[in-house]
Amino acid sequence: MEIIKVTPRGYCQGVVRAIRTARQTITENPGVPVYMLGMIVHNEFVVREFESLGMICLEDPAKTRLELLDQINSGIVIITAHGAGDEVFRKAREKGLTVVDATCPDVEKTHKLVREHVTHGDVVYIGKKNHPEAEGTISISPRVHLVTCVEDVESLPQLENILITCQTTLSVLETCKLINACMQRFPDASAAPEICNATRVRQEAVMNLKDTDLLIVVGDPRSNNSNQLRRIGTESGIPDCLMIESSADLTEEMIRDKKRIAVTSGSSTPTALTDGVIAVLEHYAETSVFDLSADTHSSIL
Ligand code: SF4
Repeated sequence: MEIIKVTPRGYCQGVVRAIRTARQTITENPGVPVYMLGMIVHNEFVVREFESLGMICLEDPAKTRLELLDQINSGIVIITAHGAGDEVFRKAREKGLTVVDATCPDVEKTHKLVREHVTHGDVVYIGKKNHPEAEGTISISPRVHLVTCVEDVESLPQLENILITCQTTLSVLETCKLINACMQRFPDASAAPEICNATRVRQEAVMNLKDTDLLIVVGDPRSNNSNQLRRIGTESGIPDCLMIESSADLTEEMIRDKKRIAVTSGSSTPTALTDGVIAVLEHYAETSVFDLSADTHSSIL
Protein backbone atom coordinates (compact mmCIF):
# COMPACT_ATOMS: atom_id res chain seq x y z
CA MET A 1 0.00 0.00 0.00
CA GLU A 2 1.30 3.44 -0.96
CA ILE A 3 0.34 6.52 1.09
CA ILE A 4 0.30 9.88 -0.73
CA LYS A 5 0.48 12.91 1.57
CA VAL A 6 -1.20 15.54 -0.58
CA THR A 7 0.52 18.94 -0.52
CA PRO A 8 -0.63 21.54 0.36
CA ARG A 9 -3.14 20.46 2.98
CA GLY A 10 -4.36 21.67 6.37
CA TYR A 11 -4.41 25.11 7.96
CA CYS A 12 -4.44 28.12 5.65
CA GLN A 13 -3.09 31.58 6.53
CA GLY A 14 -6.57 32.85 7.42
CA VAL A 15 -7.13 30.08 9.96
CA VAL A 16 -3.64 30.44 11.46
CA ARG A 17 -4.28 34.16 11.87
CA ALA A 18 -7.72 33.63 13.48
CA ILE A 19 -6.35 31.04 15.94
CA ARG A 20 -3.42 33.30 16.86
CA THR A 21 -5.77 36.26 17.37
CA ALA A 22 -8.14 34.24 19.58
CA ARG A 23 -5.33 32.77 21.69
CA GLN A 24 -3.75 36.20 22.17
CA THR A 25 -7.12 37.72 23.17
CA ILE A 26 -7.61 35.11 25.91
CA THR A 27 -4.03 35.43 27.19
CA GLU A 28 -4.10 39.24 27.33
CA ASN A 29 -7.50 39.53 29.04
CA PRO A 30 -7.52 37.35 32.16
CA GLY A 31 -10.85 37.55 34.02
CA VAL A 32 -12.69 39.12 31.07
CA PRO A 33 -15.35 36.97 29.38
CA VAL A 34 -14.25 36.24 25.81
CA TYR A 35 -16.95 35.05 23.40
CA MET A 36 -16.52 33.52 19.96
CA LEU A 37 -19.42 34.38 17.68
CA GLY A 38 -19.85 31.00 16.00
CA MET A 39 -17.18 28.32 15.58
CA ILE A 40 -13.77 29.99 15.22
CA VAL A 41 -13.17 27.58 12.36
CA HIS A 42 -15.38 24.67 11.39
CA ASN A 43 -13.58 22.05 13.42
CA GLU A 44 -14.94 20.59 16.64
CA PHE A 45 -11.48 19.71 18.02
CA VAL A 46 -10.30 23.33 17.68
CA VAL A 47 -13.48 24.65 19.31
CA ARG A 48 -13.11 22.25 22.25
CA GLU A 49 -9.46 23.23 22.69
CA PHE A 50 -10.45 26.90 22.93
CA GLU A 51 -13.24 26.10 25.37
CA SER A 52 -10.66 24.41 27.58
CA LEU A 53 -8.74 27.73 27.59
CA GLY A 54 -11.85 29.56 28.84
CA MET A 55 -13.37 30.80 25.58
CA ILE A 56 -17.18 30.84 25.43
CA CYS A 57 -18.11 29.59 21.96
CA LEU A 58 -21.62 30.52 20.84
CA GLU A 59 -22.90 28.31 18.07
CA ASP A 60 -26.45 27.60 17.00
CA PRO A 61 -27.07 26.66 13.37
CA ALA A 62 -30.61 28.05 13.68
CA LYS A 63 -29.35 31.53 14.63
CA THR A 64 -27.57 34.25 12.68
CA ARG A 65 -24.49 36.03 14.06
CA LEU A 66 -26.76 38.99 14.81
CA GLU A 67 -29.11 36.80 16.88
CA LEU A 68 -26.22 35.10 18.70
CA LEU A 69 -25.13 38.54 19.93
CA ASP A 70 -28.28 38.66 22.10
CA GLN A 71 -26.57 36.13 24.38
CA ILE A 72 -23.68 38.48 25.20
CA ASN A 73 -23.97 41.39 27.63
CA SER A 74 -20.37 42.22 28.48
CA GLY A 75 -16.77 41.42 27.64
CA ILE A 76 -15.05 40.71 24.36
CA VAL A 77 -16.56 39.22 21.22
CA ILE A 78 -14.39 37.70 18.50
CA ILE A 79 -15.60 37.71 14.90
CA THR A 80 -14.53 34.45 13.26
CA ALA A 81 -12.43 34.03 10.10
CA HIS A 82 -15.68 33.79 8.09
CA GLY A 83 -16.42 37.47 8.77
CA ALA A 84 -19.75 39.11 9.61
CA GLY A 85 -22.05 41.79 8.27
CA ASP A 86 -21.80 45.47 9.19
CA GLU A 87 -24.86 45.28 11.44
CA VAL A 88 -23.14 42.64 13.61
CA PHE A 89 -20.22 45.00 14.28
CA ARG A 90 -22.65 47.89 14.89
CA LYS A 91 -24.82 45.94 17.33
CA ALA A 92 -21.80 44.61 19.26
CA ARG A 93 -20.43 48.13 19.70
CA GLU A 94 -23.85 49.49 20.69
CA LYS A 95 -23.97 46.82 23.41
CA GLY A 96 -20.64 48.12 24.73
CA LEU A 97 -18.71 44.99 23.76
CA THR A 98 -15.08 45.04 22.68
CA VAL A 99 -14.92 43.63 19.18
CA VAL A 100 -11.87 41.63 18.05
CA ASP A 101 -12.03 41.05 14.32
CA ALA A 102 -10.43 37.79 13.12
CA THR A 103 -12.03 37.97 9.65
CA CYS A 104 -9.75 36.46 7.01
CA PRO A 105 -8.26 39.14 4.71
CA ASP A 106 -9.53 37.12 1.71
CA VAL A 107 -13.12 37.39 2.98
CA GLU A 108 -12.59 41.12 3.62
CA LYS A 109 -11.44 41.48 0.03
CA THR A 110 -14.73 39.98 -1.22
CA HIS A 111 -16.69 42.29 1.10
CA LYS A 112 -14.84 45.30 -0.30
CA LEU A 113 -15.56 44.22 -3.87
CA VAL A 114 -19.27 43.73 -3.10
CA ARG A 115 -19.56 47.00 -1.15
CA GLU A 116 -18.09 48.96 -4.04
CA HIS A 117 -20.27 47.27 -6.66
CA VAL A 118 -23.64 47.67 -4.94
CA THR A 119 -23.26 51.45 -5.20
CA HIS A 120 -24.01 51.17 -8.93
CA GLY A 121 -25.21 47.62 -9.67
CA ASP A 122 -26.42 44.21 -8.52
CA VAL A 123 -24.27 41.35 -7.26
CA VAL A 124 -25.00 37.68 -7.92
CA TYR A 125 -23.22 35.86 -5.10
CA ILE A 126 -22.58 32.12 -5.46
CA GLY A 127 -22.47 30.65 -1.98
CA LYS A 128 -23.78 28.17 0.53
CA LYS A 129 -27.09 28.95 2.24
CA ASN A 130 -26.76 29.61 6.00
CA HIS A 131 -22.96 29.54 5.87
CA PRO A 132 -21.57 32.37 8.05
CA GLU A 133 -19.41 33.76 5.26
CA ALA A 134 -22.36 33.91 2.85
CA GLU A 135 -24.57 35.35 5.61
CA GLY A 136 -22.09 38.19 6.21
CA THR A 137 -21.67 39.01 2.52
CA ILE A 138 -25.38 38.95 1.67
CA SER A 139 -26.14 41.27 4.57
CA ILE A 140 -24.05 44.02 2.94
CA SER A 141 -26.95 45.08 0.71
CA PRO A 142 -30.33 43.92 -0.63
CA ARG A 143 -28.66 44.19 -4.04
CA VAL A 144 -26.63 41.03 -3.23
CA HIS A 145 -28.49 37.94 -4.49
CA LEU A 146 -27.46 34.50 -3.24
CA VAL A 147 -27.46 31.60 -5.69
CA THR A 148 -26.66 28.06 -4.63
CA CYS A 149 -27.63 26.10 -7.77
CA VAL A 150 -28.70 26.52 -11.40
CA GLU A 151 -32.37 26.68 -10.39
CA ASP A 152 -31.60 29.74 -8.24
CA VAL A 153 -30.00 31.45 -11.25
CA GLU A 154 -33.14 30.86 -13.31
CA SER A 155 -35.40 32.34 -10.66
CA LEU A 156 -33.42 35.58 -10.19
CA PRO A 157 -35.37 38.76 -11.00
CA GLN A 158 -34.25 41.13 -13.76
CA LEU A 159 -31.01 42.78 -12.51
CA GLU A 160 -28.81 45.68 -13.60
CA ASN A 161 -25.07 46.12 -14.13
CA ILE A 162 -24.34 42.69 -12.68
CA LEU A 163 -21.19 41.44 -10.97
CA ILE A 164 -20.96 37.69 -10.35
CA THR A 165 -18.78 36.67 -7.42
CA CYS A 166 -18.63 33.86 -4.87
CA GLN A 167 -17.79 32.51 -1.43
CA THR A 168 -14.07 31.84 -0.88
CA THR A 169 -14.28 28.13 -0.06
CA LEU A 170 -16.39 26.70 -2.88
CA SER A 171 -15.52 23.96 -5.35
CA VAL A 172 -13.62 25.38 -8.32
CA LEU A 173 -15.46 23.00 -10.68
CA GLU A 174 -18.96 23.66 -9.33
CA THR A 175 -18.41 27.43 -9.23
CA CYS A 176 -17.28 27.40 -12.84
CA LYS A 177 -20.55 25.68 -13.82
CA LEU A 178 -22.63 28.21 -11.88
CA ILE A 179 -20.74 31.19 -13.32
CA ASN A 180 -21.45 29.83 -16.81
CA ALA A 181 -25.14 29.47 -15.94
CA CYS A 182 -25.18 33.09 -14.69
CA MET A 183 -23.43 34.32 -17.85
CA GLN A 184 -25.98 32.55 -20.03
CA ARG A 185 -28.82 34.23 -18.15
CA PHE A 186 -27.05 37.63 -17.99
CA PRO A 187 -24.60 37.81 -20.95
CA ASP A 188 -23.50 41.38 -20.08
CA ALA A 189 -22.49 40.52 -16.51
CA SER A 190 -18.87 40.54 -15.41
CA ALA A 191 -17.41 37.79 -13.23
CA ALA A 192 -14.95 38.06 -10.34
CA PRO A 193 -14.52 34.58 -8.84
CA GLU A 194 -13.27 34.98 -5.27
CA ILE A 195 -12.32 31.40 -4.37
CA CYS A 196 -9.25 32.00 -2.21
CA ASN A 197 -5.81 30.79 -3.17
CA ALA A 198 -5.63 28.36 -0.23
CA THR A 199 -8.86 26.66 -1.33
CA ARG A 200 -7.84 26.63 -4.97
CA VAL A 201 -4.39 25.07 -4.50
CA ARG A 202 -5.73 22.37 -2.15
CA GLN A 203 -8.39 21.46 -4.72
CA GLU A 204 -5.91 21.50 -7.62
CA ALA A 205 -3.61 19.15 -5.71
CA VAL A 206 -6.50 16.66 -5.43
CA MET A 207 -7.42 17.09 -9.11
CA ASN A 208 -3.81 16.26 -10.05
CA LEU A 209 -3.73 12.93 -8.18
CA LYS A 210 -3.03 9.97 -10.46
CA ASP A 211 -3.98 6.29 -10.08
CA THR A 212 -5.41 6.78 -6.60
CA ASP A 213 -8.05 4.34 -5.43
CA LEU A 214 -8.94 6.02 -2.13
CA LEU A 215 -8.92 9.68 -1.07
CA ILE A 216 -9.22 10.37 2.66
CA VAL A 217 -10.09 13.96 3.60
CA VAL A 218 -9.52 14.74 7.26
CA GLY A 219 -12.03 17.38 8.28
CA ASP A 220 -15.14 18.30 10.21
CA PRO A 221 -18.49 17.56 8.51
CA ARG A 222 -19.37 21.27 8.88
CA SER A 223 -16.22 22.42 7.09
CA ASN A 224 -17.18 23.62 3.65
CA ASN A 225 -13.68 23.42 2.19
CA SER A 226 -13.21 19.85 3.53
CA ASN A 227 -16.50 18.77 1.94
CA GLN A 228 -15.43 20.39 -1.31
CA LEU A 229 -12.14 18.45 -1.33
CA ARG A 230 -14.03 15.19 -1.10
CA ARG A 231 -16.38 16.32 -3.84
CA ILE A 232 -13.49 17.38 -6.10
CA GLY A 233 -11.93 13.94 -5.55
CA THR A 234 -15.13 12.25 -6.71
CA GLU A 235 -15.52 14.60 -9.68
CA SER A 236 -11.88 13.92 -10.63
CA GLY A 237 -12.63 10.21 -10.92
CA ILE A 238 -11.12 8.81 -7.68
CA PRO A 239 -13.24 5.68 -7.10
CA ASP A 240 -13.52 6.03 -3.33
CA CYS A 241 -13.51 9.39 -1.46
CA LEU A 242 -14.36 9.69 2.20
CA MET A 243 -14.09 12.22 4.99
CA ILE A 244 -13.14 11.43 8.58
CA GLU A 245 -12.58 13.69 11.58
CA SER A 246 -9.55 11.87 13.00
CA SER A 247 -7.82 8.49 13.03
CA ALA A 248 -10.46 7.30 15.50
CA ASP A 249 -12.89 7.14 12.55
CA LEU A 250 -10.60 4.93 10.43
CA THR A 251 -11.59 1.30 10.04
CA GLU A 252 -9.63 -1.53 8.53
CA GLU A 253 -12.47 -2.09 6.09
CA MET A 254 -12.00 1.40 4.63
CA ILE A 255 -8.41 0.71 3.59
CA ARG A 256 -8.24 -3.04 3.04
CA ASP A 257 -7.05 -3.99 -0.49
CA LYS A 258 -6.33 -0.35 -1.41
CA LYS A 259 -3.08 0.08 -3.30
CA ARG A 260 -2.70 3.85 -3.35
CA ILE A 261 -4.31 6.04 -0.68
CA ALA A 262 -4.09 9.85 -0.78
CA VAL A 263 -4.60 11.88 2.39
CA THR A 264 -5.49 15.56 2.51
CA SER A 265 -7.29 17.87 4.92
CA GLY A 266 -9.42 20.97 4.91
CA SER A 267 -7.93 24.35 5.75
CA SER A 268 -9.56 24.24 9.21
CA THR A 269 -8.13 20.82 10.16
CA PRO A 270 -5.31 20.76 12.75
CA THR A 271 -2.11 19.21 11.37
CA ALA A 272 -1.92 16.85 14.35
CA LEU A 273 -5.19 15.16 13.35
CA THR A 274 -4.03 14.58 9.78
CA ASP A 275 -0.62 13.38 10.99
CA GLY A 276 -2.45 10.91 13.24
CA VAL A 277 -4.33 9.47 10.27
CA ILE A 278 -1.14 9.24 8.18
CA ALA A 279 0.71 7.52 11.03
CA VAL A 280 -1.99 4.82 11.31
CA LEU A 281 -1.99 4.28 7.55
CA GLU A 282 1.81 4.04 7.39
CA HIS A 283 1.83 1.61 10.27
CA TYR A 284 -0.81 -0.51 8.52
CA ALA A 285 1.10 -0.38 5.23
CA GLU A 286 4.24 -1.69 6.93
CA THR A 287 2.71 -4.32 9.17
CA SER A 288 -0.88 -4.90 7.96
CA VAL A 289 -1.86 -4.55 11.62
CA PHE A 290 -4.63 -2.10 12.39
CA ASP A 291 -3.60 0.15 15.27
CA LEU A 292 -5.26 3.42 16.27
CA SER A 293 -2.67 4.36 18.87
CA ALA A 294 -0.87 6.86 16.63
CA ASP A 295 -3.39 9.64 17.34
CA THR A 296 -2.13 10.60 20.77
CA HIS A 297 -1.68 14.34 20.49
CA SER A 298 -2.78 16.21 23.60
CA SER A 299 -2.85 19.72 22.11
CA ILE A 300 -3.81 20.62 18.59
CA LEU A 301 -3.65 24.42 18.51
S1 SF4 B 1 -10.02 29.10 3.46
FE1 SF4 B 1 -9.41 30.96 2.37
S2 SF4 B 1 -10.92 32.49 2.96
FE2 SF4 B 1 -11.12 30.81 4.44
S3 SF4 B 1 -9.80 31.41 6.13
FE3 SF4 B 1 -8.55 30.18 4.74
S4 SF4 B 1 -7.52 31.66 3.39
FE4 SF4 B 1 -9.25 32.69 4.37
